Amino acid sequence: MFSNLSERLDGVMKRLRGQGRLTEENLQETLREVRMALLEADVALPVVREFVKDVKERALGEEVKRSLTPGQAFVKIVKDELIRVMGETNDGLDLSARPPAVVMVAGLQGAGKTTSVAKLARFLRERDKKKVLVVSCDVYRPAAIDQLRTLAAEVEVDFFPSSGDQKPVAIAAAALEHARRQFHDVLLVDTAGRLHVDEAMMAEVQDLHQALNPVETLFVVDSMTGQDAVNTAKAFDEALPLTGVILTKTDGDARGGAALSIRHVTGKPIKFLGVGEKTKALEPFHPERVASRILGMGDVLSLVEEVERGVDRDEAEKLNRKLKSGKGFDLEDFRQQMGQLGKMGGIGSLMDKLPGMGQMSEKVKGQVNDKEVARLVAIINSMTPLERRKPDVISGSRKRRIAAGSGTQVQDVNRLLKQFKQMQKMMKQFQKGGMKKMMRQLGGRGGLPPGGMPPGGFPM
Ligand code: GDP
Ligand code: MG
Repeated sequence: MFSNLSERLDGVMKRLRGQGRLTEENLQETLREVRMALLEADVALPVVREFVKDVKERALGEEVKRSLTPGQAFVKIVKDELIRVMGETNDGLDLSARPPAVVMVAGLQGAGKTTSVAKLARFLRERDKKKVLVVSCDVYRPAAIDQLRTLAAEVEVDFFPSSGDQKPVAIAAAALEHARRQFHDVLLVDTAGRLHVDEAMMAEVQDLHQALNPVETLFVVDSMTGQDAVNTAKAFDEALPLTGVILTKTDGDARGGAALSIRHVTGKPIKFLGVGEKTKALEPFHPERVASRILGMGDVLSLVEEVERGVDRDEAEKLNRKLKSGKGFDLEDFRQQMGQLGKMGGIGSLMDKLPGMGQMSEKVKGQVNDKEVARLVAIINSMTPLERRKPDVISGSRKRRIAAGSGTQVQDVNRLLKQFKQMQKMMKQFQKGGMKKMMRQLGGRGGLPPGGMPPGGFPM
């Protein structure tokens, strides 16, 4: 998401950094480009207007005039404004009601409601250890109920059966009763959508809302619908007391305008992003991190969280302790990290969050694929324990043996060793300077040689 906006803003900022001072003149020019960038990203016009106005006011203010690096000061202003527009902090789900806490989703057909219910169920079960029940009130499409049944089994939560000949409100009431009796912590209610906003649909979700009295009423919307997403959000916000938004399909959306507009238009926070079709592909929405991502600073924090969720905590701990004890990072650790990458559903979803990756061409991204990871793992598997611990002993003849054993070429082994060295260096820096320093290092232009980033090459 946001790759277009990132690219545009990056160009603007780069030019500005080269300027000694911010003058009225170059500020006008810069603001015009920021405006264009936002419009191209499909951000709603009123939001663009206010954004540019606020940035201008602050840019003309004292803090920038007095700053020695007006370019950087300007970037900070744009970042602050991005954060403000998206809502400052992350609003998680508020499930503090007496259980079962009811969460209901609403939105157009195909927005991703059913998928999001499954993702949320998984998230709540895995992360918050909640006992979750899901139910579908989509009686118009029998396949929709089956879809949720299948997904519930996949994410290992309880499913309350319903059928097409029942009334949505009756289903909801029965599910709620069941959840009470079985002591579920959370009841997630999936609803039917239509292709367009219409009165019958609104009346139905309103009835459901009344019957369920949910603690969270989440509007699910497809980010790819751009400006339409904003209009639909408005309609639902008027019909229902929404508590938040789930923005789906952000993995396929290069523009990202909806993320910047929805909060402004509805006043409701985006709580989660859908980032893929799999049930794991759900991320809590953090305005600050997303703003960093837009400005190409990379989203290391989300990455770390994702890694923590996807990997074995024990392994991560072990690595941490080892690094702290000064033993250093060896090929065994490298292999383990790559294995964990596999568990997290591949590299693709991680790439966008690495600092600097936003600007990388798709071609380069494609080179670091999951096949490549499998090959690297095969190479390490062909090494002896000593070679893994002390890669320096790997001589020419050892390299030939390893290549033959793993069905690769000597140059593949060389490349692996080079990638490992880079990663080891990064780990050292990480130990010395902590996250801030690493981010600075990575964030710097050219900090990551294209393709030189070892797959899974991030410290935990
Ligand atoms: P509903 O009609 O609102 O219940 O929508 P569904 O949950 O059935 O989703 C419609 C389609 O969108 C399905 O093919 C999903 O796999 C897909 N989908 C949902 N969320 C995401 C997402 O975050 N990313 C991607 N790529 N696809 C998604
Ligand atoms: Mg559905």
